[in-house]
Amino acid sequence: MKHLSCILKTASNSFFHLFHFVLIHIERRAGYPLFFLLPDLCYLAIALFAWYNTFIPLLNEDTHMKIPFRAVLAILICKTLRWFCRLLHRGGTAMPGRFAMKICPDLLSLLSGSVSTVAVTGTNGKTTCCRMIEEAFSEAGYIYFANRSGANLMSGILTEFVMNSTLTGKAKKEYAVIECDEAAAKTVFGQLQPKAIVVTNLFRDQLDRYGEITHTLNSIRDGIRTVPTAVLCLNADCSLTSSLAVNDLPNPVLWYGIDASASLSSKASVLSDASHCIHCKSEYLYDYHTYAHLGGFRCPNCGYCRHKTDFAVTRIIRMGSQSSEVLFRTPLGEEPLLINLPAAYNLYNAAAAISAAYAMGIRKEVWQNALATFSCGFGRMEHFPLAGGTRMILAKNPAGCSQALEFISAVSEPFALVVCLNDRSADGTDISWIWDASFEVLAPIADRIVSIYVSGDRAEDLRLRLKYAGLPDSRIQVIHGPEKLVDALELETLPVLILPTYTAMLDLRSVIVHRCGGSEFWE
Ligand SMILES: [Zn+2]
Repeated sequence: MKHLSCILKTASNSFFHLFHFVLIHIERRAGYPLFFLLPDLCYLAIALFAWYNTFIPLLNEDTHMKIPFRAVLAILICKTLRWFCRLLHRGGTAMPGRFAMKICPDLLSLLSGSVSTVAVTGTNGKTTCCRMIEEAFSEAGYIYFANRSGANLMSGILTEFVMNSTLTGKAKKEYAVIECDEAAAKTVFGQLQPKAIVVTNLFRDQLDRYGEITHTLNSIRDGIRTVPTAVLCLNADCSLTSSLAVNDLPNPVLWYGIDASASLSSKASVLSDASHCIHCKSEYLYDYHTYAHLGGFRCPNCGYCRHKTDFAVTRIIRMGSQSSEVLFRTPLGEEPLLINLPAAYNLYNAAAAISAAYAMGIRKEVWQNALATFSCGFGRMEHFPLAGGTRMILAKNPAGCSQALEFISAVSEPFALVVCLNDRSADGTDISWIWDASFEVLAPIADRIVSIYVSGDRAEDLRLRLKYAGLPDSRIQVIHGPEKLVDALELETLPVLILPTYTAMLDLRSVIVHRCGGSEFWE
């Protein structure tokens, strides 16, 4: 009886509150004054304010942190929204942060103060590099969090910080690994105040979204100027990235790259996003190329050239289809290094991650171990138990796609190839870049590609591209929809290699994860 009255009371209370909530909205819409609701609203405000004044100083006594009322309100709302998203089985990776930003625009700077953060930005390799740094952090026993979902704009980063703070704004974890979009660097870095900033490389990517590549470069440069104490980890082989370290920059710089001695030979690439000097517009001379415009560049006119490296791959011992073994030089000496991930571009990701780990005070044995046992997820060389073993390699721009194709062209056993192309805003609506990616490298190995599937919103364009690249049209199957595609793949017995664009990867991955197991994208 007692319980029943309790339930009834709660139910009537809830109904009452809901009724008020609806009334407020009707009143707002109709433009009537809120007089009869005022006492209620006052009561709520007083209660919140009393809680803020009494408990927050008590809870934050140890850190002497002073947090404004609007920040507490923003945290409360952000956490609530996220909880609702998860209740509805949605990611809620960025939306709660967007609301919090509206209430308290500088919330991130309040929350990031006591967290030692590594920020990773650049066109390609951000996610892989972040996962490698995470692996080193976890191996070192650091308590950290990361924005693993790929929500790498201000809103997504803020959501992650809020979820890893208490209601009173105290950080729950000491370290963070944050992937940051290039265009967002300008606004994010100032509030994030990272201890180290990694720039992976700069390529032409989604022109319709970023505009000129110099625009992206300026955004990162403006961001770096707001954190004069951060250690910069820069790719010495990328002439665009290198130009971030201008003379008047007070930041310490760690340079990483692949040295000439590694002889990671690559033909002078037809595809170059930076063939001319960023300072004087003369054409660069190259001592060697690694891929795209990366390599030993120098300007014959003004003398701008590749910087000497602190962290570098100096010799390649073995490049396998599952892992790579190299000699790696650090300020501590030169040693063999095993990277548990194939493909040449992952050597750059590993070098970037090592320089960041070094900047964060992680011991050599720790990051060596981390890279040897590393396995990447979320569409970056991710492995699924589908068909005869499936690997998914995200390809979102010409440079990244050409690198993935280079890797595929070295596969020695027969396999099935899947290429998926979408043109939604997260992929870039201009798909002309597929004509810049070197699908031609597949033609000489066409007899090893037993079946070819194309899918996605622009599957027909892809089919045409593959046909022009010299792949037999009779073997190309167009399949619309990720469900049907996975149905077809389930019948395959050979290994499968999938090259999807970003949103195609999300769609396809969720179907595969649903059928074969794996984690949701926000986990
Ligand atoms: Zn020059």
